[in-house]
Amino acid sequence: MIGAGAAGLAAGRTLAERGRDVHVLEAAPRAGGVLQTERRDGFVYERGANTFRLTGAPLAFLREAGLEAALVAASPASRERFLLQDGRLVPVPLGPLGFVTSPLLSVGGKLRLLREPFVRRGEGGAESVAAFVERRLGREALERLVAPFLVGVYAGDEQQLGAEAVFPSLVGYERSAGSIVGGAIRSRLRPTAAPTGVAGSWSAAGGLGALAEAMGQALGERLHTDLPVRGIAPDGAQWRVETDRGEWRARSLLLAVPAPAAAQLLASHHAELSELAAAIAYAPMVAVPLSVDPSAAAHAIEGFGFLVPGSEGIDLLGALFMSRLFRNRAPADRELVVAMIGGRRWPGAVEADEGVILERVARGLERALGLRSGLDPLEVIRWPQAVPQPAVGHPGRVARARAGLAGGPRLELAGAWLDGVSVGDTLASGHAAAKRLLDRA
Ligand SMILES: Cc1cc2nc3c(=O)[nH]c(=O)nc-3n(C[C@H](O)[C@H](O)[C@H](O)COP(=O)(O)OP(=O)(O)OC[C@H]3O[C@@H](n4cnc5c(N)ncnc54)[C@H](O)[C@@H]3O)c2cc1C
Repeated sequence: MIGAGAAGLAAGRTLAERGRDVHVLEAAPRAGGVLQTERRDGFVYERGANTFRLTGAPLAFLREAGLEAALVAASPASRERFLLQDGRLVPVPLGPLGFVTSPLLSVGGKLRLLREPFVRRGEGGAESVAAFVERRLGREALERLVAPFLVGVYAGDEQQLGAEAVFPSLVGYERSAGSIVGGAIRSRLRPTAAPTGVAGSWSAAGGLGALAEAMGQALGERLHTDLPVRGIAPDGAQWRVETDRGEWRARSLLLAVPAPAAAQLLASHHAELSELAAAIAYAPMVAVPLSVDPSAAAHAIEGFGFLVPGSEGIDLLGALFMSRLFRNRAPADRELVVAMIGGRRWPGAVEADEGVILERVARGLERALGLRSGLDPLEVIRWPQAVPQPAVGHPGRVARARAGLAGGPRLELAGAWLDGVSVGDTLASGHAAAKRLLDRA
């Protein structure tokens, strides 16, 4: 196996538990990929992913791997989320009824939402998120609700992202029932054998880096860090895997690396797959965890955090109030606020001077929280290839590429660029890829 991010760790763990002689080769000095937790001056902050949702598939994996007990739920008080609108933080309604009184949408926008069940079914072709959401819910819902959500998850752009990849259930509801509302009601009424998830936001005691560490430790000597793979090639019924510390041979290979690395490793023998991987665009992002004095903020630092729609005209994408979500993340008199900047809104952020980044973060926090002083950055973390952007038609292309893996020695693929970008999606992607390998063994 190559790569020990969330996907690779889940796959390695699944194969090891079923008694397979699995070895995980990881380029970095430690396992976890984007899952990295740092401790400094009484703060426990994430360098990459902050928290995740426990939907059915990742929960099934974490249960099976005996890791459920390591998880911690975010405080219920942190459920409230905000959107910046005209310089004011407006709560996002927690249920459909809340939209009736919310100032986030105009009366016209709300009436358009209510018309959703009566909007005609689409033509059935693959669409961008922008086209799908505007067609079903109206332009205002797209601009004021959906686009900021996409910024929070993908640091991405509604015109580029594909609806099927980003909102598979909503697209499925329209296909099966003619409308999102109709499909949602039907799916609630239909009994299902699929595992259901647990609501809320989740992490692990000690952060997501600690969860990755626990998964890595369970692999023991089967995890090989500081070992970048330089090349792979089929050789009869086996794979040859080239590293700086010699050659490995394997009957099955699972690639759980980001798309650019997969493109390079697959170039000489799986041209179509390599091209698919090379075509995946990534949004860049800069994360800035900050120590904040709450008494210096005009707006209470309470809830989950806030997102900033592009129409606000600032570069900040949003911020999470991490010390409100989880205990022991900040000293008693401070808050841990993680600001995100860059994405499609300011792609140059990853190359910008630290001073410029901090100045723009400070400007954003001043506008959103009225914070003029009392904030100290703990680190400026640059992710040039942070989040893959699944484009229109992405799930179909992935399915066709996977179908083409049948010939030659066994090969499987897992990771954020294939099956969904969230931590939960990537755990589930690794788990499912390992199970496919086991089925073909
Ligand atoms: C800043 C940031 C914030 C995020 N926040 C959230 C969040 O709050 N919630 C959420 O759900 N998701 C979040 N995400 C997304 C999510 O964390 C990632 O999509 C997911 O963790 C990626 O997992 P992965 O295993 O696919 O890839 P990675 O974590 O990238 O792991 C791939 C691994 O492969 C290794 N590798 C690469 N090339 C080679 C090679 N040639 N040989 C050996 N090893 C190699 C790499 O070193 C790496 O360890 C965030 C992402 C970023 C960047």
